[in-house]
Amino acid sequence: MAVQPVPATAREWHLKARPNGWPVPTDVELVEAPVRAPEPGEVLVRNAYLSVDPYMRGRMNDVKSYTPPFQLGKAMEGGAVGHVVASAAEGYEVGDAVLHFGGWREYATVPAQHAVKVDEAHAPLSYYLGVLGMPGLTAYAGLLEVGAFKQGDTVFVSGAAGAVGSLVGQIAKLKGASLVVGSAGSAEKVATLTGEFGFDAAFNYKDAPVHEQLAKAAPEGIDLYFDNVGGDHLEAAISALNVHGRAVLCGAIAQYNDTGAPVGPRNLALAIGKRLRLEGMLVGDHAALQGQFVTEVAGWLKDGSLKYEETVVDGIEHTMDAFLGLLHGSNTGKMVVRLAS
Ligand code: NDP
Repeated sequence: MAVQPVPATAREWHLKARPNGWPVPTDVELVEAPVRAPEPGEVLVRNAYLSVDPYMRGRMNDVKSYTPPFQLGKAMEGGAVGHVVASAAEGYEVGDAVLHFGGWREYATVPAQHAVKVDEAHAPLSYYLGVLGMPGLTAYAGLLEVGAFKQGDTVFVSGAAGAVGSLVGQIAKLKGASLVVGSAGSAEKVATLTGEFGFDAAFNYKDAPVHEQLAKAAPEGIDLYFDNVGGDHLEAAISALNVHGRAVLCGAIAQYNDTGAPVGPRNLALAIGKRLRLEGMLVGDHAALQGQFVTEVAGWLKDGSLKYEETVVDGIEHTMDAFLGLLHGSNTGKMVVRLAS
């Protein structure tokens, strides 16, 4: 890679106001800020791809959570991949490709210990934000470890055309599920689920109540539910789960922009008689699976048995559009922002 001059200033996104309900473009601001030279132990990275993820909506609120809130008037954070353009850290050279957490900006000065080297010869750089990164591990660990998936299980996954969901369904098929059902928010996504991603059945949750469509798609019930959505999806799944069924509570995107009290599930008492296990998960708890996950998933990608989709939005100035698009469902697979190279 040719060494490029480092500019004195570059653009970064700041949180200007905390959203109340759905975020709006004026909640954030694209600011020209100084590019800081790395101090000992740091690297300066020119970002190539930024990740936008649903959890970032929670970080815009001023509430205590498993990740601290974004600070008003400061650059927001998130996953990003790029190339080292200046290094004051041993073992890091200009040109190294790294995955780090200084997203929402063109250039990031980060501690080298938080910059993980990635191999562009092995997979395209953006894959480390998706199938080979955090969403991929979420799907893999959530299904296999938290969900205790077993060969022959019938599986339902919501948010099925997204980054995590599309991998959950495919991994379940690869591991021998007897039935995989997915739900998504458009006819095109439903066609992608049963076509490209090889789900056995899929439905558009906007067409009719989830519990009705799920009952038709899985008449014998389900053994495992991977929840990305919450609300009506979780309630329908609790009704459909078989005795000793498991639900992996991964996300509840249907309520991330709610201003009122969340709805349901109203049928939780069914969990008693059916001896259900509903377990929340955080991907960060599953780092020990990283090696096994990368080896297995990279193998499936290589032999073509796992399909991977990305929705790519170009230009740092469109990062907020990409984030809002993600919340509204404009993505199939992983939503990423590509910066000018
Ligand atoms: P996705 O790529 O799935 O994008 C979000 C999708 O959510 C949209 O494309 C949209 O698709 C769907 N959606 C939006 N609103 C609704 C709604 N009201 N009802 C149903 N679906 C809706 O995102 P990710 O794969 O990155 O994340 C999926 C889930 O996993 C999220 O809930 C996220 O918070 C969670 N997560 C949790 C982690 C953990 O450690 N617990 C780690 C990573 C992700 P559609 O068109 O189908 O509506």
